[in-house]
Amino acid sequence: MARCSQIETELQAYLDGELSRAKELIVEEHLSACSHCKHEFEILRKSNAHLYESLSPYKLNESLDEQIMKKLPEIDVSYNQTHQITLRVKHQDESPYSFSNIFPYLALTAMTVLGVFIFVSWPYREISDTERIGIAVNIEGNSSIIDKDINNIIKEDNLTSIKTDNYIETKENSIVYSYLKGNSVLKLAGNTRIRILDERTVNLEKGKVWFDVGKDKKVFRVNTPQGIVTVFGTQFQVEVDSTQILTTVHRGEVTVETANQFVVLRQNQQVLLKNNTFASEIKTCDSEKIIAWANEIEPSERILQKVSAYFSNTKPLPITTPASQIFVVPIQKKEISSLELFWDKQKSINSNFTIYASDDELKPLFRYKLTNNLLESFDGEVSIPIPSDISLRNVKLLHIEIISDDIEDSSLMPFTRVFAKN
Ligand SMILES: [Zn+2]
Repeated sequence: MARCSQIETELQAYLDGELSRAKELIVEEHLSACSHCKHEFEILRKSNAHLYESLSPYKLNESLDEQIMKKLPEIDVSYNQTHQITLRVKHQDESPYSFSNIFPYLALTAMTVLGVFIFVSWPYREISDTERIGIAVNIEGNSSIIDKDINNIIKEDNLTSIKTDNYIETKENSIVYSYLKGNSVLKLAGNTRIRILDERTVNLEKGKVWFDVGKDKKVFRVNTPQGIVTVFGTQFQVEVDSTQILTTVHRGEVTVETANQFVVLRQNQQVLLKNNTFASEIKTCDSEKIIAWANEIEPSERILQKVSAYFSNTKPLPITTPASQIFVVPIQKKEISSLELFWDKQKSINSNFTIYASDDELKPLFRYKLTNNLLESFDGEVSIPIPSDISLRNVKLLHIEIISDDIEDSSLMPFTRVFAKN
């Protein structure tokens, strides 16, 4: 079972609906068995409910922080905690269906995260949809949107449409604000080149982008030239240069992946990827400072209203969670050589899957990518080797989380059993 200290850090995110379904299951499994955490959870739930209720009248007030401080005279809360509560109160009834109401507050929002995957090689994608999926506004300097071979200059105080498979390119010292369907905001620093495959998939080729991914539990992917990174979080920044990728989390929870490893980042943490391996341990950082440049970028009220008018008529994306399954595999501190995965041959396996293996405390151990092609060459059973540099000598239970790239309904997931082989 996961450790209490681990679960306690997840409770608020659990309440806010920011965890992946797999993580939710781990939290729920723990809460059903641990009276200590169950008690902590009830306190948190009640205080959240109380705050939401008492602060509702102030919801549209810009400076909620002050009101919260007044409501909590006897509690020692830091400014940062207060601010987090502000964000939650402001978005307590946030839903894709009330998009036009929340848009003016987009700048203040911390919207729920999705997943961001960064692949080693650019994924193949058939592009057929050519409708507008977002807009870009130039804030400073020179930048353009490249649509096929046509170079559209992005103008200041003017909306330029983004269609599927467009590139956005910024010159030195230029800054672009862009909005993608589904309430995601991207802010591009200078010397950045990004390819928008769809409203949930981008290739970051170079430069620096701040992401605030819209609340819509669908996977959001960022591909970069090296390393594989998966992010579950809220607000984060990815910086790519020719040799490394730096991911910084401002809010939420983020998983950064290489080919066979992954780490989980929380607020004010960052990790450096180099040559498809982690070049550093997870470091604590002042994310507020690191993303300060992005906080300064805000289009005019007039532009924001225009964007809102443009997209309020578009159909909100369906709320989906990437389908996942969790298996708990007892290994009792024995070194094992592989994991055996079985699936239901009656079910279609028309998807790629990623396997995340963590220990009893949910500490990441390794990841493994199972492609559809690989699975098709096996008959209902596949063996996943344990990476040689991973020691399981102190691990009692393995948490195996399997996430699908394409399946949206967990009941359609094909896997039936996972066990350890000596
Ligand atoms: Zn506990």
